[in-house]
Amino acid sequence: MSTFLLRSSTIRLGIFISTLIIAVILIFQLAWLKKVYRFEQKEFDHGVVKAIKGLYEDLDVNVYYSTHLNELLENPESHLYLAHIDLPVNYDTLVSYLQYELEDFGIFTDCHIGIYNSVQNKYAYTKILTLTGAKDRTNTGLPLPVRKFNYLAMYFPNRQQYILSQMNFWIFSSAILLIVLILFSTGLYYFYRQKFLNETQKDFIHHFTHEFKTPVSVISLAADVLKNEKIIEKPSKLAMYAGIVEYQVHYLQGQIEKLLQFAYSESGQLHFDKKEVDVHEVVIKAVNNLTPIINEKNAQIIYELKASHSIIQVDEGYLLITITNLLDNAIKYSKEPRIIVATENDDKILRLIVKDNGIGIEKSEIKKIFRKFYRVRRGDTYVTKGFGLGLSFVKTFLDSHNGKIKIESTPGSGSTFIIELPLD
Ligand code: ADP
Repeated sequence: MSTFLLRSSTIRLGIFISTLIIAVILIFQLAWLKKVYRFEQKEFDHGVVKAIKGLYEDLDVNVYYSTHLNELLENPESHLYLAHIDLPVNYDTLVSYLQYELEDFGIFTDCHIGIYNSVQNKYAYTKILTLTGAKDRTNTGLPLPVRKFNYLAMYFPNRQQYILSQMNFWIFSSAILLIVLILFSTGLYYFYRQKFLNETQKDFIHHFTHEFKTPVSVISLAADVLKNEKIIEKPSKLAMYAGIVEYQVHYLQGQIEKLLQFAYSESGQLHFDKKEVDVHEVVIKAVNNLTPIINEKNAQIIYELKASHSIIQVDEGYLLITITNLLDNAIKYSKEPRIIVATENDDKILRLIVKDNGIGIEKSEIKKIFRKFYRVRRGDTYVTKGFGLGLSFVKTFLDSHNGKIKIESTPGSGSTFIIELPLD
């Protein structure tokens, strides 16, 4: 396995494990918070029960001692407690005892109380106990459960907020942990991205050197031969070497053109001169441009230009580069290229389809191939020449023309690139 593959896969494994660990930490933290919340709820309930027990002792009524506390206390909903009580009772004494007991058992939140008279089926007395003292309010928001016995109702409207406020430390520490985990994940992500960019950049320099070195060496060799005076006597050889030089220069021009397109698109200097263009004509031009590689690979180009509306508003030069890039790839990445170039349209969209019978692209690679410099590795080496810039340009072109691209591909059987451009 190559160093790049090893490194990127190791980093990916690292990220996977870290994500798993982060997920486990978060799950544990959430479970822990839930546990603390339940504990605080229980503590609150215990506090209230103890306060009521204390109240019974303060009121010093025998019946309360002889009966089990559970039978005297009801908790019909989480915010509401009903405690049996005998009437008549001195309301003010009861309120002051209760306030004292609640504070004693650490219940520091508003408590709406009511003394229910079962004969009249209503509250005979209501009050709101706040941290700053007891207040008379007509609207206490107290529910009125109908019972056959007299009771003291204690309603805590802010029970949940109070419990949460008791958990401040845990919530705060969880938030800090979450922030740390987010920062850690972001750092990890940027580290991976940087690593990926570095590797792609290194690959680019490697391809760049390779793409330019070979033609330059070939031209230099041909020039050496052409310098020989005797070559004049062999016109066929002269023509052959001149042809080689011409081919290589043409190739170099093509590569320089690609780099220039990229440099312009990177610096935002691509100026689109949109006008009405017949896509079918541009397809023919692109195929003509590719004659050398078509001949070299003995490629078969099959036209299925069926679109009835083939005229769109685009920059012709850039559309030509886009179609050329797609066709060039289709030929490059096929062993015995049999390329179908088709068009079709509906009311709104013109579709250009380039279908090849080449090596295909793995599903996981499809999104990546539009990144600049990205090239799919097959084994230890790249099978074909290129900079990994062709499709990145295609994407830039389509984005600026409200176009879309779709790829359907089966590794080993071939790929279909479908470009969609708006007709208006
Ligand atoms: P280049 O061809 O110069 O490497 P591109 O940006 O045109 O750069 O393509 C990026 C990558 O996408 C290529 O390296 C290749 O791996 C893959 N690719 C593009 N077109 C095809 C195709 N028709 N069949 C198989 N692979 C393709």
